[in-house]
Amino acid sequence: MIPGLMQKKQFNVIDILQHAATWYGDVEVVTNSVEGGVHRIGYAKLYDRTSQLANALQRLGVNSGDRIGTMAWNTWRHLECWYGLSGIGAICHTLNPRLFPDQIEYIVNHAQNRFIFVDTSFISVIANVLDKLPTLEGLVVMTDKENMTDDMLKIGIPVYCYEELLEAETSDFVWPLLDEDTASSLCYTSGTTGNPKGVLYSHEFNLNHSMISAHGDVFDLSAKDSFLLIVPMFHANGWGLPLSVPMVGGKLVLPGPFMDGKSLYDFIKVEKCNKTCAVPTVMTILIDHLDSNNLQIPSMNEIYIGGSAVPQSMIEGFEVRYNVDVNHGWGMTETVVGTFNCHLPFMDELSFEERMKVRCKQGRPPFGMEMKIVDNEGNSLPHDGVAFGKLMVRGPRVIERYYKAKESALDKDGWFDTGDVSTIDKYGFMQITDRTKDIIKSGGEWISSVDIENTAVGHPEVQIAACLGVKHMKWEERPLLIVVKKEGCDPSKSSILDIISSEHAKWQLPDDVVFIDEMPLTATGKIDKKPLRTKYEDFLIEG
Ligand code: AMP
Repeated sequence: MIPGLMQKKQFNVIDILQHAATWYGDVEVVTNSVEGGVHRIGYAKLYDRTSQLANALQRLGVNSGDRIGTMAWNTWRHLECWYGLSGIGAICHTLNPRLFPDQIEYIVNHAQNRFIFVDTSFISVIANVLDKLPTLEGLVVMTDKENMTDDMLKIGIPVYCYEELLEAETSDFVWPLLDEDTASSLCYTSGTTGNPKGVLYSHEFNLNHSMISAHGDVFDLSAKDSFLLIVPMFHANGWGLPLSVPMVGGKLVLPGPFMDGKSLYDFIKVEKCNKTCAVPTVMTILIDHLDSNNLQIPSMNEIYIGGSAVPQSMIEGFEVRYNVDVNHGWGMTETVVGTFNCHLPFMDELSFEERMKVRCKQGRPPFGMEMKIVDNEGNSLPHDGVAFGKLMVRGPRVIERYYKAKESALDKDGWFDTGDVSTIDKYGFMQITDRTKDIIKSGGEWISSVDIENTAVGHPEVQIAACLGVKHMKWEERPLLIVVKKEGCDPSKSSILDIISSEHAKWQLPDDVVFIDEMPLTATGKIDKKPLRTKYEDFLIEG
């Protein structure tokens, strides 16, 4: 072997912020702050404050390897925690405040969090379970002195004010050079079945992921961007964007707690955002606001949507009415970005309708993400867009084992079973058919719940729809459609079934449609089918 003669460097997450501070020092991070008002800070200043935080962390006694929680909105302080904690060799553990109290208790104890950095909005979430968190030594409230109240201090555990901690420190800090295999961040899966499981990302993962996600056919990032980061920093490592946007010197626009349609629209307009990302349920809030107020978002070019399947009506709606490209992506906490849809040259020749069908697919893997579909015996299935099977992934951006798990999460050849079922077409576009557990098995035939839901929301009066396999005397399972109507609308069952029958075979049509007022959502904003199943599993039998 003749070794290459280039320099080596172990990259650490803090190198990203250092680069942004040096070369894009004035580029802003803009936050709709928890305290009210818009807060602006350049990367250079944010880096200085992160160095102050590093000194403060050491003064608090935080050691390398400690798991330190954050329960916070997307804000500049949360960004400082991401970089400061991983920079000193500790592990930034993002906690999802929307989880049930027993899940939060489980996660904090499992990770043995010593401190939690918490926004004022979420102090009560921690206070509710505080007596069940034996490893917790203190809370750092992410605000200034003026917004600290006596109640906070009486919570029964040492409480520190974030800004006071920083004020006491200088911005001189020498970052340790960490082995790139060192863990930098921790995020738990939403745990729709069983306990949540921890995914422990390394510095190397985060650097590799950032470079790939800046790629043209992923988030296509550059210093020209003003990126509205709607996806919470606690969902699947914030899809990597709190790292990849600063890496290229893009402006980060952080909505804080203001996630309603008007606030998002105003922020897009004032900060001239050209990109944003969220799960479909949140994007529905934005597009509904635009539709009902007859607004346009001329600065916006690209919207990245993932986390659950994006209906064609949404992709079409943004493109036709707002001239915005929707890029549909698939990923999971265990991989962060997995695939992204993109425009390939062959699509130039397609009709609008044909192109939309391709754009609805979850997309193609970027470099480094191996992907295959297999049958129940593990045999690879063809890439013909028809055969569907278990979606398996492999590569340096895929989990090896869950945090504290004794066993690998992979099969003997290193593949990770995603729990999703999908097809892959001849152009390499993967399309999720369903979660393995959500597929409807009707008399030996399989029906994709995702397909039915996506067609149903194409009805102009349907807000959101969930399709479930429920018990049936003859066919074992049959589809039942649960629908939330758009405000002020009253669609009939038959009009919804008509739309579905225009795209699906008769035997795939739901046996009935049930209207409900509010769709149950998971802590990351996806449809939560568990309570629906419990409530409706005997619906057709009883009917
Ligand atoms: P989480 O780790 O909470 O983000 O959940 C990951 C799971 O969300 C995946 O395994 C999929 O089942 C689902 N998911 C993510 N993105 C999509 C998508 N674009 N379409 C359909 N399902 C998706």
